[in-house]
Amino acid sequence: MSRQNISKKYKTFCSRIACLLAASLMATHALSQDLSGWSDKTVCRLAISQQDDPQYLQEAKNRGLNCGGEVNQTQATSTSNSSSSQAAINHTPVSLGPSCNAPEYTVGPEPVSSDSVHRYYKFKWQDDPKICITVYEKNRVDDWQVSKIDELLNFAKNRLGLKIPVNAIVLDQKNSSRKTLRQADFDFCNTKVLTDSEDRDEQVENCVRTSDEWGNRSASAGVNQFDLPNGGDLFIGTDLFEMIDNNAVVFRIIMHEFFHIHQNSLKFYFEDKEQFGVPIFWTDNVEELWDNPKKEYIFANWIEEGWANFGGTALAAPFNTSYGSGELLAEELDECRNVINVAASKGDKFSLRDYEYQGGLYESSENPNNGIAREYAAQYSCGSWAAVYLWSLDERNFQKIMVDFWTGLAESENSSPGFGWVNSFESNFGMSLETFYKDFDAFMKQSRRSQISILKSDEEIIDAVLKL
Ligand SMILES: [Zn+2]
Repeated sequence: MSRQNISKKYKTFCSRIACLLAASLMATHALSQDLSGWSDKTVCRLAISQQDDPQYLQEAKNRGLNCGGEVNQTQATSTSNSSSSQAAINHTPVSLGPSCNAPEYTVGPEPVSSDSVHRYYKFKWQDDPKICITVYEKNRVDDWQVSKIDELLNFAKNRLGLKIPVNAIVLDQKNSSRKTLRQADFDFCNTKVLTDSEDRDEQVENCVRTSDEWGNRSASAGVNQFDLPNGGDLFIGTDLFEMIDNNAVVFRIIMHEFFHIHQNSLKFYFEDKEQFGVPIFWTDNVEELWDNPKKEYIFANWIEEGWANFGGTALAAPFNTSYGSGELLAEELDECRNVINVAASKGDKFSLRDYEYQGGLYESSENPNNGIAREYAAQYSCGSWAAVYLWSLDERNFQKIMVDFWTGLAESENSSPGFGWVNSFESNFGMSLETFYKDFDAFMKQSRRSQISILKSDEEIIDAVLKL
């Protein structure tokens, strides 16, 4: 899940900054579905393959499903309320990295220059952006989990590069004390409020107060235009390891979240200038960005979530070579096919284009095609297969999906504001987006057998080379 999705409901209740803070803390989809009519098999399939969306796991747990041993049914579902009886608990967060203890900036820096589209910034940390992992109530968290998260994030950093610092929070959200959870919210909010105004403390408090409840937050990560000076943020709850027995799947989720940092940091980075550029429109016209659904997205959601799924797989595969990446991608093909087939059976015609920003609309009873809500979250599965499909067209496209599309994004936005991602797509893949949608939608109508034949082998995914 990415933190880029902004919930409109916050807009009227809080000031702009606080809104964004609250929205950036949101770890659940604005639209959640009634899953009661779904089969156990479907719920399990989604619970295993889309763990960064908590509703399937919760539904599987509510039904007491074991899901082939991959979803742990004994996990407690209560929210955090265990503030008593832990005399020995150490409330001091333990940070793994240097200089993790305070935000680099409490006031955003002035731009070094600007043009008609971007304001440009240089940040203190640019020479060596750190991954900072802070563990709360460390005695509740297994050491191997912390070191595995550390290894995963650094492995991903070496493979994809990293332009911004990452502030990762790791904690046991089910059992940590309220005080600890509040401390984690405070530390998070303290990196988000960048102002020298007198009421900074009040704004931090407001951010803490409007933070999501703990207990069922899913893994999440993001970078936005307002708090970029302190880098990106990433959250991993240790319940992830308990909910999913298959560690390879957990590793992939952590890589998925790292990929969100990767894509959302590079959308600001100008490699030639070695500066970050924030589009003026994104900061000065927030209301318009929200009010106009065509501008609500900065790149398509099927790219954001789908390529984070694909990228997560491609990163996790060489990290753990016994990991069956092909099998997970094959499951995603089935999910995507399922959304398309169920839609078709109801007279609804799927297109990948429906998931640029308006997936929620098609998943509601306002579905413009037939008024029947589609099955959920095709941006993950079909978006991932959009990457599989592109790779099958040209060996070089793996490099483009993982790196080049993202490194070209900021420059492309500067030359065509509002269409940066479309232009980056078209120049990287050598075809119009229009043509791609037409071809991919047609591909998704082929037989499963012919679709699965384009999938690379596990070895090819492990051995795929990236140039930085
Ligand atoms: Zn995601």
